[in-house]
Amino acid sequence: MGNMDVKANLQHIRKCIADACQKINRNSEEITLIAVTKYVTIERTEETINAGVTDLGESRQEGLLEKYEHIQDQATWHFIGTLQTRKVRDIIDKVDVIHSLDRMSLAKEINKRTSCTMDCFVQVNVSGEESKHGLSPKGVIPFIKEIADFENIRIVGLMTMAPHVDDQQQVRNIFKRLAGIRDAVMKEKFQHAPCEYLSMGMSNDYHIAVEEGATHIRIGSKLVGTE
Ligand SMILES: *Cc1c(COP(=O)(O)O)cnc(C)c1O
Repeated sequence: MGNMDVKANLQHIRKCIADACQKINRNSEEITLIAVTKYVTIERTEETINAGVTDLGESRQEGLLEKYEHIQDQATWHFIGTLQTRKVRDIIDKVDVIHSLDRMSLAKEINKRTSCTMDCFVQVNVSGEESKHGLSPKGVIPFIKEIADFENIRIVGLMTMAPHVDDQQQVRNIFKRLAGIRDAVMKEKFQHAPCEYLSMGMSNDYHIAVEEGATHIRIGSKLVGTE
């Protein structure tokens, strides 16, 4: 699955997005499709760009640097994985968006190292699974308040990963809760945190995420494959 040509996979995914949007009367142009290239080669990544997807997601520093060397500014780069504080300076000038801001020490380092304003999603561990990174739902607003003085960080939205379960209602509830937290943050009208976006949905659950308001979906295996 997923190792067919990227164009064919893309066509299928766009159709699923359009169907999900139609169900709830959304404009599919509000949705940014991020191709997660962490499992694949540079050749495959180039094929992805040629197919017309120019938002790329990488979850490891090494993967990002390797791909960036070849692709450079042909793509908008999303860093979606756990980010070690000491590696921030290696990637900061290459990434456009960080989806995994989840702690104060990381915010400090990003604020210090970036040469411009960095757009960040705050990662939230909605499901409460121990294996997952992210702030607790309750911790989100206090955290955002705490970083108000970090003038180089702009919180553009919230990100989460749903648990790997067959129960679609359980997955949907996770996405609904993230949307609710996002609404609560927006109500605060923080200057440094417009927080309008929702980064949620992967290969197995993006159709649900779109129905629940995702603005950024991150798709790896079903779009570019896993090689
Ligand atoms: C790997 C990864 C994805 C993509 O996963 P697929 O299931 O292959 O689509 C999305 N988001 C994050 C944070 C990831 O690490």
